[in-house]
Amino acid sequence: MTLRINSRGAQVAKLQAELKAANLPVGTVDGVFGKNTLKAVKLFQARHRLGVDGMVGPKTWKALLSDGKSPAGSTKKTTAPSSAPRGTVVNGYVRGVPRKIRIAPIGNGKNMRADAAAKFNQMKAAARRAGVTLSPVSGFRTMAQQKSLYAAYRAGRGNLAARPGYSNHQGGTSVDVSTNGSYSSSAYKWLARHGRQYGFVNDVRGEPWHWTFRG
Ligand SMILES: [Zn+2]
Repeated sequence: MTLRINSRGAQVAKLQAELKAANLPVGTVDGVFGKNTLKAVKLFQARHRLGVDGMVGPKTWKALLSDGKSPAGSTKKTTAPSSAPRGTVVNGYVRGVPRKIRIAPIGNGKNMRADAAAKFNQMKAAARRAGVTLSPVSGFRTMAQQKSLYAAYRAGRGNLAARPGYSNHQGGTSVDVSTNGSYSSSAYKWLARHGRQYGFVNDVRGEPWHWTFRG
């Protein structure tokens, strides 16, 4: 299927996730092929010496899906290649116990446990229709990532972070959404009204951004 300006849907979201993984500024992964997506596609085509027509046909797809080692070099596809529709199995932790979990993309290069990711993406689309952007700033975290956040917290340089192994982010069920740290942000207010419907609760006091999937 060829995607072009004004295309919509899951394939567009997949395209946007791939562009993002290639370090291109695509904006929100929302499944709508708008101006930002068009610009990112053209940049990508130029970078790969494809015809720069802003249309995503077989050649552009092929280049996107094999772009793991892009010339920009800084993209590391160590967790979930967004082309894997059913997600990627990683080492997570649940209440201190290592556990294999399957994660899937939620946008901005972040991931959640696959079931939570599916619900988050649905919720994000609903918020979008209401004019509210749910932009994930943290999702699934590896042990190394949690250790470094915990160290920063202990040193007084970061937000409250759970002991490594014990964060819901390591089980892939928590997501931090951009709220400017404010309970009066549109993202928080929308989530407070609708999050539960998608299985998400705000379970850390003082952290309007932190939402956990309880199913
Ligand atoms: Zn969090």
